Amino acid sequence: MHKTSSFMACGVAVLLLAGCAQSSQQQANQQLAKQSVMAANWFQQSGEYQALTWQAFNLAQVAFDQASSLDGKPKAVIVDLDETMLDNSAYSAWQAQHGQPFTDKTWSAWTQAKQALAVPGAVDFAQHVDSHSGTVFYVSNRAQQDFAATVANMQQLGFPRANAETVRLSTGNSNKQERFDAIKKAGYNVVLYVGDNLNDFGGATWHQDNRQRRAFVASNHARFGTQFIILPNPLYGDWESGLAAGYNKLTPQQKLQVREENLRSWSGK
Ligand SMILES: [Mg+2]
Repeated sequence: MHKTSSFMACGVAVLLLAGCAQSSQQQANQQLAKQSVMAANWFQQSGEYQALTWQAFNLAQVAFDQASSLDGKPKAVIVDLDETMLDNSAYSAWQAQHGQPFTDKTWSAWTQAKQALAVPGAVDFAQHVDSHSGTVFYVSNRAQQDFAATVANMQQLGFPRANAETVRLSTGNSNKQERFDAIKKAGYNVVLYVGDNLNDFGGATWHQDNRQRRAFVASNHARFGTQFIILPNPLYGDWESGLAAGYNKLTPQQKLQVREENLRSWSGK
């Protein structure tokens, strides 16, 4: 073979290999996304999901009412937004249907569309707090650039007093502890945290693996239902990245493998 044609043949082989690698990466991404179909079905269609969210907010209301007032300090509740007060499951369903991974770009487009729904019970709870001398702070890791669309979406849904003081989006640090401390420092008596992610209750579980996250739950179990109210979210969360160290930096193929490896399974007979 001439040198030129051998060079070209190699070039074609390299391109083919690169193409194969890309398509197997695409396939793995599709498979990852498809694994959320049942979670999205449950989230959007089951009465059980809605019963759980009502249970959470009914309990939150009792906990808020029973929390003791501190002299001179107004009561406040800190809630997360996504999959706590706002239902973005249509974005997750779109991912599952089209095999799309999460990206900041598509998430921002979804946010700008202002099509999030209210989680059942969330608006009633926020209105209850607001009409009983409490302040709801909405502390979320949504991007600042999506602030106006987020507030507009919340106002459409009936969330009270959604404004620049109460809606606190990402400061560039996904650990929410600093923002929680700022609210307390401003003189509020924070009586309750509501979220779908353990990180919504403070910085202790931030960037921790699932073993550490479970240990946090075990050592704080008495606070759930009184100071911490948790909403179910099987669609996504830091529990997923908690499956393995550096999970978010793994290739789609490696993520699929980690998910399989983390199944605690019957040996089968
Ligand atoms: Mg959330």
